[in-house]
Parts: sequence; structure tokens; C-alpha cells
Amino acid sequence: MKNKQAPVWVIAEQVDCRILSVSFQLMGQACKLADALETTVESVIFGDHIEEQAQQLIAAGADKVYMGISPQLELYQPEIYTEIIVKLAQERQPAIMLIGSTSMGRELAPLIAARLQTGLTAHCIDLVLDADNVLEAKIPAYGGLLSIICPQKRPQMATVAQGVFPSPELDENRTGEIIALDILCDILRRLQTLEVVREASDGISLESAPIVVAGGAGAGDPEGWDKIADLASALNAALGCTRPAVDEGWADLETMIGQSGKMICPELYIGVGLSGEQQHMVGIADARIMIAINSDAKSPVFDQVDYGIVDDCREFVPELIKKIKEYQEKQGTC
Ligand SMILES: Cc1cc2nc3c(=O)[nH]c(=O)nc-3n(C[C@H](O)[C@H](O)[C@H](O)COP(=O)(O)OP(=O)(O)OC[C@H]3O[C@@H](n4cnc5c(N)ncnc54)[C@H](O)[C@@H]3O)c2cc1C
Repeated sequence: MKNKQAPVWVIAEQVDCRILSVSFQLMGQACKLADALETTVESVIFGDHIEEQAQQLIAAGADKVYMGISPQLELYQPEIYTEIIVKLAQERQPAIMLIGSTSMGRELAPLIAARLQTGLTAHCIDLVLDADNVLEAKIPAYGGLLSIICPQKRPQMATVAQGVFPSPELDENRTGEIIALDILCDILRRLQTLEVVREASDGISLESAPIVVAGGAGAGDPEGWDKIADLASALNAALGCTRPAVDEGWADLETMIGQSGKMICPELYIGVGLSGEQQHMVGIADARIMIAINSDAKSPVFDQVDYGIVDDCREFVPELIKKIKEYQEKQGTC
């Protein structure tokens, strides 16, 4: 019999009434933690017309869903969400609170943690319990994995990116309780979401692409970067990057792969001019075949991939594109 104390919480996120896959993935992991702690899983979700979504959270493993339902909550409202979650957490005293490392979660989690005066571990790549049932939130650091614990304060909070945990099977026959929250929309707001304008994306989505080409600092300059981008289009692949490519302004933050970026699992990953730092590699741990192109034969990236090419990417990549195009022409596939 599960005890009803100190539940494990998942703050679920929906966009256009569709629950994000990261929220389902967190539900799966929350269930594992709750089983070990012999407690229940509870979830909080906000929006308008989200009764069906609350039911889906039960199918994914929630025993109880707190539903903040109001036309005023159709769009993410940071201060209202924070106020309601903080008040509810103070009443319910969850042991653990998990939030997706999405743009909403990255803002909301620290707001909640600060108000609850508790600790928050961001961008975790694993969540386990130690011998004392304290949450060990793991992040890559110092060339290994660092376990961060929050032994004194509750809830123990963590954000996790999409793709870190598998999605659980939904069980439509599961039952649970859905509780509609009293929505206090007169909460003082300095920030208000009026409209969501989606950026048009012209490339292939990193998360779903079978082939991903990722470029790093070794691109050297914008011209070098363009060659890597050309390789991605020649292969009909999605283009990803490492942190320096974002810092240099060659690539958008949205395309960064790794601990603070996207977690992906393509069939084929080609890393060009990157050193294989763990914060990047953790994002492609599940790729099926990995290739690296690096001018330094001693680069640590070569220890982590299936095939390595030691060459200057600025010379090798244009040659490779030429060969790919010749091959495609022969096959009639270009
Ligand atoms: C908390 C934290 C979170 C982070 N999160 C992320 C994250 O999510 N994603 C991420 O990517 N990084 C992240 N980083 C940064 C990460 O630690 C590394 O700094 C980064 O991944 C290194 O990028 P890089 O491999 O492109 O650059 P470098 O490490 O500088 O490597 C460049 C490589 O290019 C090679 N090279 C140079 N010239 C050429 C050439 N002409 N042809 C071929 N090869 C060449 C070099 O030999 C070298 O190996 C994070 C860091 C911290 C502290």
C-alpha cells in the first residue's frame, strides 16, 4: 500500500492542448521514484479546455492531477503559475518536484525554488535515489557525472530535458483523482503573456531527424560554418551545434545539442570540428552510428565515436559534399 505522504510531483506542460513529451517522460521517471519511496505521483497542469490532458496524465501514471483551468491560463503566465504552484506545494509538501527543461520550465523552476527556498538542479541527465532515499540529481561535470543532493529542504527540485527518459506506456484504464484548482487570476502580475508567436523553422527538426550533422568551434568562422551547414543539406540532415557555435553567432541556441540543449537519438550523427566534451556528447548518447571529423588525431572525441576522420574540416567537408553529390547524381536521388 502506497503511503499518501510526500508525493512526487511533475509540473506538466501543454501547448495548444497537447502535453509535451518531456512531461510524459517525467511522469515515467516520477513513477519509478514514487514506487521506490512507496508514495504517490501527483501532477499539476494549467490551461484552458485541458480536462482530457489531465486524464492523459493519469494514464501516464499520476494518482492525482491538480488542474488549473481558466481562459486566462491558456498561455503560460509565469507569475500566476508560480503563485499557484507555491501555494499548493506549501499545502501538499511534495518530496520531489520535476519540471521539463523547456523555455517555460527553465523560467518557472527557479521562480518556484526561490519562493519555496529550496534547491534546484537544472538540466539533469539522471534522477535516482541514494541509500537514504534522497534524490540524486545527476549532471555532467568535470569529465564525469556529478550527483547533486538537497538533503535539508523540500521539495527536491530538478529540471530535465526532453529525451533523457523514455516515454511511459499510457494505460487508459488507470484511475486517479482530478482536482480543479481555484484560480486566482487577480494575482499581481508584472509579466503577462499576451500572444505566442512561433518562429518559422526552415530546417529539419533535430529531435526527429534520422541524420544529424553537428558543428563546433573547429568551423573557425562563418564561412567554415556554412560548409558544415552545406554538408547537412547535402545529406538532408538536421544541423546541430556545440556551445561555441552559438557563442560565435553561427548557430541558434535552439540547435545546441547537449546538457543545456537538445537530447537527440538519430540513426547517424556526424560531429564536425568539435572536441567531444561531455556536456555536448551527453545529448547524443543514444545515437546509433557516430562519426567525428577533427584535425587533431588526439582529440577525445575519437574515443567516443564509431568512425573518426582526422582532417581539416574546412578542406575535407567540401570534398565530402562533392562526393555525396556525385553519388546522389549516380543514384538519381538528388
Ligand atoms: C554547465 C555547462 C553546460 C554546457 N552545456 C553544453 C551543451 O549543452 N552543449 C554543448 O555543446 N556544450 C555545452 N557546454 C560547453 C562544453 O563544455 C564545451 O565547451 C563545448 O561543447 C565545446 O565545444 P566544441 O567541441 O565545439 O569546442 P572545442 O572544445 O573548442 O573543440 C573544438 C575542436 O575542433 C577541432 N578543430 C579545430 N580546428 C579544426 C579544423 N579546421 N578541422 C577539424 N577540427 C578542428 C579541435 O581539434 C577541437 O577538438 C556546457 C558547459 C557547461 C559548463
